[in-house]
Amino acid sequence: MLLPDAREAIVTTCQELSRAGLVVGTAGNVSVREGDLVAVTPSGVRYPGLAPELVGVHRLDGSAVEAPLAPTSELPLHLAIYAARPEVNAVVHTHSPAATAVSTLVNEVPTVHYYAAMFGGPVLVAPYATYGTEELARNVVRALHDRTACLMGSHGAVAIGPDLGTAHDKSVYLEWLCDVYLRASSAGTPRLLSPAQIAAVAEKLAGYGQQPPVA
Ligand SMILES: [Zn+2]
Repeated sequence: MLLPDAREAIVTTCQELSRAGLVVGTAGNVSVREGDLVAVTPSGVRYPGLAPELVGVHRLDGSAVEAPLAPTSELPLHLAIYAARPEVNAVVHTHSPAATAVSTLVNEVPTVHYYAAMFGGPVLVAPYATYGTEELARNVVRALHDRTACLMGSHGAVAIGPDLGTAHDKSVYLEWLCDVYLRASSAGTPRLLSPAQIAAVAEKLAGYGQQPPVA
């Protein structure tokens, strides 16, 4: 079996996302790039029944190498990100409730907390386009410019990273940030951090080797 570790890690990650409520049913999808190959979740398989051999392996042009099932309909999105971002080796796409709710409200996630800095700056919302289309893939790649996550308007969220663990963590932090914004804005008008305040945290994080802040 090709890419056994990546396929196993994708199964584990999908099941964690499902347990944490970041995806529902068969929604969301996860991929890992290794060299010229991409392991990616299949279309329409519920996560409790997902197994490493059901995770397909495709080339960067989308053609199947070892894939018993059709790939996720968002394969073009994953491939467009890998084409645009050579440093990225993992993509996590969720329909997590807070991120999806915020994607219907704003064009940029308000900087209610300094965690905004861990994504490279304020997280942008990619304009809506039909799922699975090249147009959606293009919108997401644009919103991810200089960032490690974005929201997808009226759809969900995408987090990326040099490895799957990092991309998964970012999707969890992004959901938390969006949840804080929803709670704060439902109780009043949240105070936002300035670009200078976010930049100062980004500088500190860079010193920590991009690890999440512990303070
Ligand atoms: Zn989706």
